[in-house]
Formats: sequence, structure tokens, C-alpha cells
Amino acid sequence: MVVKTPLAKQVFQPPTTVASGLGGGYQFFPETPSLTLKFDGKLITLYPRQIAINIVKDESGAEAILRWLKQQINDTWDRRPDLEPSFKVALKPRILEILKILPRTNCRDCGQPTCLVFASRLSEGVGRPEDCPGLDERGKGQLQKYLGQFHIGK
Ligand code: SF4
Repeated sequence: MVVKTPLAKQVFQPPTTVASGLGGGYQFFPETPSLTLKFDGKLITLYPRQIAINIVKDESGAEAILRWLKQQINDTWDRRPDLEPSFKVALKPRILEILKILPRTNCRDCGQPTCLVFASRLSEGVGRPEDCPGLDERGKGQLQKYLGQFHIGK
């Protein structure tokens, strides 16, 4: 879903300060420019004049996310004197490392066509280990531990 909103304009004044304030799970691409972050298992990408959100059921779901986003932006703006920009490049989880932990039965119970697709989505910060019913407690723990090393998995 793509929402046109003036909110995104505020995000890029200045982008690094806002990104620092969002507390992890974000990636800033200065060339585009765009800022991608994770919220409730969804990926949200902010462009200068648009916001794209994946996996939104309906308009009320999108509006709830926009309200949250607006609050994040305004809170970050208020805290800007205390924020330190970070220019570290965030590492992403490796799809194959995730796949190794999954049952690899391609049963589709997670709603994805294959375990590889599920692993790819997890590496992007979409979905959670609990979304795979075939994963036992040990596997869930292993996956959470692995994803926990990266900002995007938080
Ligand atoms: S539910 Fe788990 S085992 Fe089944 S396809 Fe999805 S990731 Fe693979």
C-alpha cells in the first residue's frame, strides 16, 4: 500500500537524526532517498512524498501505522538536541543461515510458498519465527537468537 502524505517531508529534515531516534530496525538509503523501518512485522518505507507499507489489511490498519509513525517522527523531532547521528552500516541477517534453522519442508503453513521465501522475508525484518508452526521451541530460540544480533530483527 502506498500512502501519499506530507509526513515524509518532515522525515528527511534531517534524515540521520530521525533515523537515530527510531531505535533500530531501520535502513536509510541516501541515494533514493528513502528510510525503511520495521513495525509490527511490516516494512514501512518513507520517500520524500510517499509512504509504502507492506501487508496492510485495510485502510484502518494503514491509518493506525501512520498515527504511530507521526508520533515517532514528532517525538524524534522533539528529542533532536539529544540525538547522535550514527553512520554505521547495519548488517542484515543471511537468508541461508535462517533457512538452515527452518524445518525446510515447504509445507506452506506460514502462508509463504516455500521456506526460502519465509527465510527471505525474515531477513528483511518481515514476520517472526513464531509464524512457522513447524519450528519447535529449540528452533524458535535459535532463530530469535540469530535475528537478535541484527537491528532489523528487533
Ligand atoms: S511453515 Fe515453516 S516449514 Fe512450512 S513453509 Fe513456512 S517456513 Fe517452511
